[in-house]
Amino acid sequence: MTEATTSQPLMRVHDLRVGFTKEAETTFVTHGISFEIGERETLALVGESGSGKSVTAMSILDLLPRTAVRKGSVRWGEEELIGVGPARLRQLRGGTIGVIFQEPMTAFNPVYTIGRQISDAILLHEKLSRRGALARAVELLREVGIPEPERRITSYPHQLSGGQRQRAMIAMAISGSPKLLIADEPTTALDVTVQAEILRLLRSLQESRGMSILLITHDMGVVAEMADRVVVMKDGLVVEAADVYSLFAAPQNAYTQRLLNAVP
Ligand code: ADP
Ligand code: MG
Repeated sequence: MTEATTSQPLMRVHDLRVGFTKEAETTFVTHGISFEIGERETLALVGESGSGKSVTAMSILDLLPRTAVRKGSVRWGEEELIGVGPARLRQLRGGTIGVIFQEPMTAFNPVYTIGRQISDAILLHEKLSRRGALARAVELLREVGIPEPERRITSYPHQLSGGQRQRAMIAMAISGSPKLLIADEPTTALDVTVQAEILRLLRSLQESRGMSILLITHDMGVVAEMADRVVVMKDGLVVEAADVYSLFAAPQNAYTQRLLNAVP
């Protein structure tokens, strides 16, 4: 364990309500989500499909469709992110907050090479030549365990295996040296053996870079392996929040007990 709890959390989400507007009517799908994430901490957001995990995570940087409405507060240190402009959110996303998704194809443009796209991400927040950014992209691909990275930068996304694409997306997400990595079901689409490798990679990057991770998953096995603390969501509400040991040893909520009983 690291010194996970500091007096000032890295991020504090308070009473977050997200809705979607259709024909002038807003339907809320989360109803007051609150949690904090400390430095170097892995916080897992768990719950069945449709419970509002992705909506919660994606609303942090306002990565939701235009029909989305956000209420409540997302504090990044002293800064309130609800209502902050798109330019600041883009700046945060390229730098201090990285995001990875379940399906890397949504992060990559199929018509550009991996090297081009990772170097574009680097050039958003660093003054380098294209050549310098490509050299940095090679280092990042090496850091995430892609073999022969010098050759891989000229590959197109479809030319990589699923696991390698996931690694390349992680390389892109950490290119701005984020303090927080938001990972939405990062291993769900992968084979079991590849899943384990990606989880190992995330853990080792967290150690070496000192990041916090907000990990969204419906897999309690992944939670057991990765999380320091857990927030359990159901129908857009937090039903339980605890450190991982307490949660597995003595779940307080009937729904959490059901989730744990479902672990094979
Ligand atoms: P989870 O990630 O926990 O599986 P989501 O956060 O994706 O769940 O979804 C929570 C709820 O919000 C679901 O009922 C889903 O249908 C709804 N929802 C998600 N995205 C949209 C959208 N773009 N428009 C309308 N409803 C949405
Ligand atoms: Mg989801």
